[in-house]
Amino acid sequence: MTDRNQILFDRAKQLIPGGVNSPVRAFKAVGGTPRFVQRAQGAYFWDANGQRYTDYIGSWGPMILGHGHPAVVEAVQKAVLEGFSYGAPTEREVELAEEIVKLVRSVDMVRLVSSGTEAGMSAIRLARGATGRKKIIKFEGCYHGHADALLVKAGSGLATFGNPTSAGVPPEVVQHTLVLEYNNIEQLEAAFAEHGPEVACLMIEPIAGNMNFVRASVPFMKRCRELCTQYGAQLAFDEVMTGFRVALGCAQSVYAQLIPGFEPDMTVMGKVIGGGMPLAAFGAKRAVMEQLAPLGGVYQAGTLSGNPVATACGLATLKEIQKPGFFEKLGATTQSLVSGLTSAAHEAGLPFCGDSQGGMFGFFLFNELPQNYATVMTTDGPRFNRFFHGMLDRGVYFAPALYEAGFVSAAHTQADIDATVAAAREVFATM
Ligand SMILES: *Cc1c(COP(=O)(O)O)cnc(C)c1O
Repeated sequence: MTDRNQILFDRAKQLIPGGVNSPVRAFKAVGGTPRFVQRAQGAYFWDANGQRYTDYIGSWGPMILGHGHPAVVEAVQKAVLEGFSYGAPTEREVELAEEIVKLVRSVDMVRLVSSGTEAGMSAIRLARGATGRKKIIKFEGCYHGHADALLVKAGSGLATFGNPTSAGVPPEVVQHTLVLEYNNIEQLEAAFAEHGPEVACLMIEPIAGNMNFVRASVPFMKRCRELCTQYGAQLAFDEVMTGFRVALGCAQSVYAQLIPGFEPDMTVMGKVIGGGMPLAAFGAKRAVMEQLAPLGGVYQAGTLSGNPVATACGLATLKEIQKPGFFEKLGATTQSLVSGLTSAAHEAGLPFCGDSQGGMFGFFLFNELPQNYATVMTTDGPRFNRFFHGMLDRGVYFAPALYEAGFVSAAHTQADIDATVAAAREVFATM
C-alpha cells in the first residue's frame, strides 16, 4: 500500500523545516512518520491513508467539545458570511470578554490576542510595566510560549539566572529570567529573599501540562501566593492549557477550593477559548490592565486580535462547556481512561501511574507521579515510545512525546475509552 502520510511528509520536508509548522508534530521524539490529518469528527480524525484514530490531543487542547461540534460549526459558518476581519471593534469581542470575566473570578479586564505565545509575552511586558521591575520567575518544565525571555532553562545551582534553550536568544535577553524547580519551596523562598524587590512577576502553569502532567502542590502554590503578595510581584497563572479545561473556572478555581481566598493576579488564556481558532487572551485586575495602550504606557497590539470568526468559535465553545453537568461528565470520562490504563498496565506487571483533572490527563510508565521536571526526565522514554507506537498501530493517537499532557473531549464516549483500554492491554502485553 502506498503510504500517503510518508509521501506528504517527504513533500513537506522539501518546503517546511522538518516538514511541520510546529516541532512536536514531527514525531522526532517517538520516531516514525507523522500522520497527516485529512479530516476530523467528534473524537476521531482520519489520516491521509483513510485510517481512523481516536484523538487524545484535540489540537493540543482546544477541541474540548470534540471536532465539528454542530453548534460551533454553525456559529463559525454564520460569522464567515459576515466577514473575516475588520480591524475595528465588534460586539462579539465584548461578549467574549464578558464571558471570560464572568468565568474567571480573578480577572476584571481582558485583552484578546491570537496565540498563547503572544498572550504570555504581553502579560510579562504588562507585569514589568505595571511594577516598574525587570525580573521574572519561571519554573523548569513549564512552557509559556516561545517569546525570547521565556525560552530559558535552569542555570546551575540554586536560584541562578538561566541559559537560553534556543539558539538565537542572546543571554542578555534572558538575564532577568530566573528559573526555579517546580514544587521546590526552599528554592522559591531563597529566590525571593535574594531578588524579591526586583521581581515583576512569577509565571506558572498551575497544573503543568508541558512536562506531561504535574500539579503544583498546595503548600507550594500557597507559598507562591504569599511571596508574590509580600514582595509586590504579580502572580501570573498561565492557563493556556488548563483554562476552561480542568474546570469551568480554570485551574485557579481548583486551587481556590484548596486554599481559601486564593486568586492569581494575572491569567494567560488560549486554546479552549478559541475552540480551535487562533485566539488567546490575558487578563488581570483593572488597575493593572489599564496600564495597557491606549490607556497606559505598555504597548500591545494585533491586526487580527479579536478576530470575528475566532470570537464566534470561542463564544460557541464557551457556551457549550457551561451546560449543566459538562465538567462532571468530562472529568469522569477522563478519570475512567486513566484508571483503565493503570489497571491494564498493572495487570501486565508494568510500573504505571496517572492523574487527571477535568479533561486533561497525564500518565507515566513509572511508579509514582513526578513532582518536577528532573524526575519526569528520569521516566522511561524508550518504553513510552514503544507504547505510543503500539497504540498508534491500533488507531489510538496519544501525544507523540512523553512530555505532553493528553486531552479527552466531550465527544469521547465510554465505548471509546473501553476500546482504548483494550488496545492498551494488548500493547502492554508485548512490553
Ligand atoms: C500551548 C501553550 C502556550 C502557547 O500557546 P500557543 O498558542 O501555542 O502560542 C503557552 N502556555 C501554555 C501553558 C501552553 O500549553
